[in-house]
Amino acid sequence: MEDNEASVTANETSVTAPEVPVPAAASPAEKRSYLKPVTRAMPDGLLKGFFKKIFFVEILQGMSLTMSYMFKKPVTRQYPKEKRESMPGFRGMHALVRKPLTRRARCVGCGLCAAMCPSKCITIYTSEGKTHEKVVDRYEIEILRCLFCGLCVEACPFQAIVLTGHYEYANAAKDSFLLTKEKLMDNWDKYMTDEKGKFYFKNFWAPRKNHFETPAGQAVFKGKR
Ligand code: SF4
Ligand code: SF4
Repeated sequence: MEDNEASVTANETSVTAPEVPVPAAASPAEKRSYLKPVTRAMPDGLLKGFFKKIFFVEILQGMSLTMSYMFKKPVTRQYPKEKRESMPGFRGMHALVRKPLTRRARCVGCGLCAAMCPSKCITIYTSEGKTHEKVVDRYEIEILRCLFCGLCVEACPFQAIVLTGHYEYANAAKDSFLLTKEKLMDNWDKYMTDEKGKFYFKNFWAPRKNHFETPAGQAVFKGKR
């Protein structure tokens, strides 16, 4: 046994590493070819640059550009004096839709919007009414946590919540960022009532009935007959 071990060790020690080819040293001529000649920039534009400097050409060019804009209509807006209308479908502050006849909120307190909200900033408190209907006691949105993703709008099956075009709600008071049910219904009156609301529902409300229809040509499983 000891003899075998000794023979293995002897064999292992006899194995030598393969030879790595060592590159031949570069000849002086090859070394010289690696060295690229460094050339200094030719003083082509030296005279031109000199004249440019002494006659302030670039400064005059800049001044002429500035002067040309003095007689054009300014493109900047003097906000907040000049306000900008938000684009249709803009996702601004929320509003709860009022029923036109009863002037009550359309929301039934189903809680789908709160369930869908990714930042969990909607809180709904409901109770049971006299005729066992669900009554929305409080509906609150912490707008500072809102992402304005619009998922609450899409989730609502009753067209009861919308995102208005209102974006100017900066305030030093933190309370103003807790939108209560009353504030949300006021927002509907201020920003989405009448034609604006109709336009919003017509053009930006989703999902619509036809979004759930089976696309033409898609195979449909109809079960066993
Ligand atoms: S817009 Fe998005 S983040 Fe904001 S309340 Fe609706 S679902 Fe939540
Ligand atoms: S806003 Fe719509 S989804 Fe949210 S609780 Fe009211 S009815 Fe339900």
